[in-house]
Amino acid sequence: MVETEAKGVLLVLSGPSGVGKGTVCKALLARNPEVKLSVSATTRAPRPGEVEGVSYFFKTREEFERMIAAGEFLEYMDVFGTNYYGTPRAYVEQQLFAGDDVLLEIDVKGAMNVKRIFPEAVLVFIAPPSMETLKKRLVGRGTETEDAVKRRTQEAFAEMKLMPKYDYVVVNDVLEDAVSSVETILEAERLRAWRRTDLTNLCKEAGTDL
Ligand code: 5GP
Repeated sequence: MVETEAKGVLLVLSGPSGVGKGTVCKALLARNPEVKLSVSATTRAPRPGEVEGVSYFFKTREEFERMIAAGEFLEYMDVFGTNYYGTPRAYVEQQLFAGDDVLLEIDVKGAMNVKRIFPEAVLVFIAPPSMETLKKRLVGRGTETEDAVKRRTQEAFAEMKLMPKYDYVVVNDVLEDAVSSVETILEAERLRAWRRTDLTNLCKEAGTDL
């Protein structure tokens, strides 16, 4: 990908399990329907209510590995050592080149990989108000076995350590406030001088280029 040609904002929202990043993403998309959500591919089984092509593209390991070999992922991860998760490259590139903003909701390691491949990506870490709240949220899900909760809690604590590497940190305490903060970030990123190709003529008149 030629990074400088992409005009839309690649907004990456991540953070530890249980922090409510999915909820922040949903609310952000509801308030900003022009933002395009990248639907990930995964080998994990669909949960009740999840819809193919909306929640995820559900794949077998063979299908997923064929996509890896074909270079179809912007990034992919073996998130919990059992299942693959990945961001299909084509959709993201098409939207960015068309000037649209794209939202990725991925895990912290995936976010680091995206930043390496695409340095203009804007990384937002969704943080819990406290570690105690995070622990409570992980237990409170009630959809997993005790072992799975324990593993997720350990993972979540390890994921918190990557917070300083992000461009922005938003605390998800009051959902509305968290969404407003992400909107503020998006608004500011849209105003970056290098992205203002709409002002090329103004620059030309002033005798300069963007
Ligand atoms: P879940 O199984 O609960 O839907 O997601 C598990 C984790 O995988 C979450 O942290 C989620 O953000 C992450 N995830 C979802 N899609 C992707 C992806 O395309 N790439 C990466 N690296 N992580 C993803």
